[in-house]
Amino acid sequence: MLQVKTPEEALRLIETEFSPIGGHTETVPLEAALGRVLAQDVCANEYVPDFDRSTVDGYALRAADTFGCSDAIPAILNLVGEVQMGEQTDLALPRGACAYVPTGGAIPAGADCMVMIEYTEDYGDGTIGILKPGAPGLNLIFRGDDVRPGQTVLHAGSVLTPPELGALAAVGQTAVPVRMPLRVAVLSTGDELVPPEQTPGPGQVRDVNAPMLSALLRQYGAEPVFYGIVSDDEAQLRRITAKAASECDAVLLSGGSSAGVKDAACRIIASLGAVLFHGVAIKPGKPTILGKAGNTPIVGLPGHPVAAYFVSKLFVLPLLARLEGRVLKNHPVRAVLTENLGANHGRAQINACTLSERDGALSAAPIRSKSGLITQLAEADGYLLIDRDCEGLPKGAPVDVYWNL
Ligand code: AMP
Ligand code: MG
Repeated sequence: MLQVKTPEEALRLIETEFSPIGGHTETVPLEAALGRVLAQDVCANEYVPDFDRSTVDGYALRAADTFGCSDAIPAILNLVGEVQMGEQTDLALPRGACAYVPTGGAIPAGADCMVMIEYTEDYGDGTIGILKPGAPGLNLIFRGDDVRPGQTVLHAGSVLTPPELGALAAVGQTAVPVRMPLRVAVLSTGDELVPPEQTPGPGQVRDVNAPMLSALLRQYGAEPVFYGIVSDDEAQLRRITAKAASECDAVLLSGGSSAGVKDAACRIIASLGAVLFHGVAIKPGKPTILGKAGNTPIVGLPGHPVAAYFVSKLFVLPLLARLEGRVLKNHPVRAVLTENLGANHGRAQINACTLSERDGALSAAPIRSKSGLITQLAEADGYLLIDRDCEGLPKGAPVDVYWNL
């Protein structure tokens, strides 16, 4: 019998048993930094923007010159010039004057706000009517509003998404210090497994887990290192697992993780270091092992591809994030269940589902399948979790759905 942990206990063990590893870094050009993990804080040494700018097309002016004006009684100001985009302006506004400034243009000295062109009238005689009062600061971005010298723009550990690349561009950080991806060993074990390119003989199946888990690792931003399909030969499996653990930052071993005679993963992990847990109270995915050889985590994943996938999403990705000191963002979306969904296992249940939008709300249709049908997982948009204490959810219940993305 396995001494199972709850999912929460398993996640807590991941946090307490592992800590961020230093790891190597490299510097890549901005255009190659998407999806990488920032290795150092990025501090600005400039102002962004470096000058006071307008956020609208209109007239720069002194707000005090327009107080009380209206459509009926415009404030009449003298037009003293026009600011060109991309140029410093040496215009200075005397009292009662205004200057035309396009969106993003520099604000002339003396002006303290912008009034949108929609609220003005050009009388064509060198004067402009202002139909709506300004207020100090209106429609302006001041020097340094976005970034000031010394300010930390991005923190180490951030995953670089398009907006982060935009922020790096804004401060001129075109050489980006990033972590080298974690190297994660992938091993499949089972006498019945053949590579996907091979036609399975009687009793054989193709290795689904290695390509699927390698893809998940790549999607996360780690580098999968495939150590092959290993037969259920304990000595050989131990030798290759030990080699993988010595060469990689983490090891994913799928298959042979149950408590059967031929299931050697737990004995092997124990012999290479320590088993932290064997068994998690989830369905599917109960025969999951977490252990370590030295400080290198070894995860024994269930052989069933669907279980291997869910366990990897639930525990392997948080483990990798822990090793990298990275904040994992995997926020669920709220959806409404389209039909009753039973659950009465005393184990948390993971259910694949499809998502669709109906009447402006997301609905989640559970995919009912026998355990382990990979094509049904492939059809799913995501998955939902049912608490171990919950005996099922009624149609219409709100559920949190995690994307497969
Ligand atoms: P195991 O965890 O070794 O008991 O395997 C459980 C089930 O998953 C068995 O039906 C195996 O044939 C299947 N299985 C194990 N490893 C893989 C794999 N890499 N790809 C596809 N199916 C697998
Ligand atoms: Mg097996």
